[in-house]
Amino acid sequence: MDDRSKSSKTRRIILFPMPFQGHMNPMMQLANILHSKGFTISILHHPYNSPHSSNYPHLAFHLIPDGLSEDQVSIHDIPRVLHLLNTECIGPSRECLRKLLATHDDIECIITDAMMYCSKDVVEDLGIHRIVLRTSSVSSFLAFATLPLLQEKGYYYSDHNNNNNLESRRDDPVPELPPLRVKDIPSIQSQNPDVALKIIGNLVQGTKTASGLIFNTFPDLEEPNLPNLREHFRMPTFLIGPFHKFFSAASSSLLTQDRSAISWLDTQKPDSVLYVSFGSLAAMDEDHVTEVAWGLANSMQPFLWVVRPGLVQGSEWLESLPNEFLEITSKRGYIVKWAPQQEVLSHPAVGGFWTHSGWNSVLESICEGVPMICSSFFGDQTVNSRYINDVWNLGIELEKGFEREEIESAIRKIMVDGEGQEIRERALRLKEKVQGSLKTDGFSSQSLNDLSDFISSFKSSGA
Ligand code: UDP
Repeated sequence: MDDRSKSSKTRRIILFPMPFQGHMNPMMQLANILHSKGFTISILHHPYNSPHSSNYPHLAFHLIPDGLSEDQVSIHDIPRVLHLLNTECIGPSRECLRKLLATHDDIECIITDAMMYCSKDVVEDLGIHRIVLRTSSVSSFLAFATLPLLQEKGYYYSDHNNNNNLESRRDDPVPELPPLRVKDIPSIQSQNPDVALKIIGNLVQGTKTASGLIFNTFPDLEEPNLPNLREHFRMPTFLIGPFHKFFSAASSSLLTQDRSAISWLDTQKPDSVLYVSFGSLAAMDEDHVTEVAWGLANSMQPFLWVVRPGLVQGSEWLESLPNEFLEITSKRGYIVKWAPQQEVLSHPAVGGFWTHSGWNSVLESICEGVPMICSSFFGDQTVNSRYINDVWNLGIELEKGFEREEIESAIRKIMVDGEGQEIRERALRLKEKVQGSLKTDGFSSQSLNDLSDFISSFKSSGA
């Protein structure tokens, strides 16, 4: 710990995560990172998807009684859940924050997930600085920030699957945001597209009024977009990722990680296994999952597949998978409900990752030098997938969605052919750059010091 850690010893930061796995992981990692810099940390959390406080005896937890029922926050309509979380929790979180401010005189600031945009109203008049953590890449955040312009120019449609006007233009380039194509513009699928658009508008505006902005990313990935970011968001910005290299995501896992996945990988040859996971929220229909299954079977490659309960719409778990598929692949395939993903990706047996292109998964893969096959479902995933395929050249995007021939061919390219080897070499070079960025004089470490100094400066300047 350096001198600046000691000087910030008695200063408290309040962190306010969004209660979804892909948001909880980076926020809890950031909590640990800032704690290691000497700050005292308090976490505000919802009753829904609460972090496991017993894993963090060094942090303080404060429940916000937002009054939402399990039913209201079920993930079938994510924009609706986001809307509810942001409207129903303003009063209770304000009250909670007010009490904390009354009982603690060491509070420096609050760091909120950008998606908890209600925090702008929550802190109003409370005299406290607000910093925003955006848990996605800079490139995808800029795509969100540019949506009003794209909508004006006729590129944006709120539901990728149901807009006939734009169907014929799906592959057209978007000149305002190269290398994106129309189909890559981030969408939030909702029964009510207006709600989705409003949420994105609030996300961007809520961020613009923050005192500072943190990203879980690093400049080697984002350099060309940084001037554009500074133009849109003029506050101090800190790129201190990848967070999971400071602290693992395992302790913030909301589901139990099945460690038998690691024992199974131990029995496999180096670089031979394709790891398949579509994250914590994505859902697919039975037809798509059947294509996935046959693509895996026909590729003849070993695989470890995370079939999360809820991944297949209308199924408890594996009932909708063809019996024949389970029989054929029983000797070279292993299926779990949830895996210790970070450990899986760093296992020597893993040679490729078929991902839904969620930002945490992408970063975790990059840091282990694992080439990717990219699918995407919603939100920033389409942008991540395009960047992996076209800009970073770290993987192959599945252009046709879920179609068994394309899947089989992509798996062979990544796992067997020379193309996979080239991608692997590029991925390993980037992995080394990440390691450099995390060294004491590396970019992420320096940026973390800057953030620490920035937060410490609040006390003297007042809110
Ligand atoms: N994850 C995990 N086990 C799994 C699948 C995913 O621990 O079987 C973790 C993964 O390491 C990542 C997070 O869940 O940190 C998923 O976040 P991401 O941004 O990739 O996708 P999301 O779930 O938000 O769509």
